[in-house]
Amino acid sequence: MMARRSEPEPKPFFWVLLDESPQKTRPVFHEKFEGWTGRLVWEIEVLSDYLYVGSGNLDLVRLPDGREQARYAFARRDGQLVIPATSIKGAVRAVFEAITNSCVSQRNRRERPLSTAHMACGLVRKGKEEKARLCPACRVFGTTGYRGRVHFSDAVPVGEVRTETIKIADLWPPRQVRKARKFYQTKAFQKQDLHPRKNTRFLEVVPKGSRFRTTLYFENLSGAEMGALMRALGLGLHSSKPNTIVYAFPLKLGGAKPRCLGSVRFHPRGVFIQTSPSTDADDLWQRFLQSAPGGVKNLLLQWLQSEALLDEEAWHQFRAEAQPQTDEACPREVY
Ligand SMILES: [Zn+2]
Repeated sequence: MMARRSEPEPKPFFWVLLDESPQKTRPVFHEKFEGWTGRLVWEIEVLSDYLYVGSGNLDLVRLPDGREQARYAFARRDGQLVIPATSIKGAVRAVFEAITNSCVSQRNRRERPLSTAHMACGLVRKGKEEKARLCPACRVFGTTGYRGRVHFSDAVPVGEVRTETIKIADLWPPRQVRKARKFYQTKAFQKQDLHPRKNTRFLEVVPKGSRFRTTLYFENLSGAEMGALMRALGLGLHSSKPNTIVYAFPLKLGGAKPRCLGSVRFHPRGVFIQTSPSTDADDLWQRFLQSAPGGVKNLLLQWLQSEALLDEEAWHQFRAEAQPQTDEACPREVY
């Protein structure tokens, strides 16, 4: 039976309005060596009660009452829990798109906005590269016919990460279409008992505090692109102390976001900058291993202070609305 309430529970998402047309310019092609090339190591910490990244598979779990129950399994590679790189890239790209007024990529087609100006950037045809014009997100993350200049590795557990089984009510995402991008918030999960029931499903999840490690590879990025990318990973500058880096907001990863799963924080753990072009693979890795002078913090500061790609209004709105509200309950049922 559905819980009856005098008023509906507050919805756990917000919208970032689509405003002006994206600024499209010529992408950087890969043969050049300019700007920032290197890699950043991140630790992903689960901030919400649970994280669920689906594998697309079902497995069987034994419930406390002894019964076997089918559940949606967490993603694995070679038997090890993993957050696939595509999930990470998708989550970071969605924030990047919102805070740089970029197009809404094909990935989000299901919730495509009613704004032709924000339709995904067009195909880049071979031989017509000079004519290609792409929005900031497509220039950095890629689009049809243009390989992006950033990618992530699959994230693997740091230390021991154990999974648990939870039950949630089925998700009926509201099919609202509007000139806006939708983002889920961080609220408290309302735990359900583990008795099978109609219109519910079981998920294999990892709990709050679990940690994973991923590497972000970047190639020929400008300072402004690095700045927007660091923000899209949830970093920002303190509002009154401009030389202090802060965690601006959590990101949302994986599935069951309408049940407030999947809030994570990205902690920067190391940076390696390539200082000159090289075609020799061994040499390249040698150069990568020269850690940047001044360490991670100085570089992050330098990038974050480069705000040329930032849509100030969208950034401030995002920062305000994506703040965790863990004293508020996430809806348990259809909303
Ligand atoms: Zn685009």
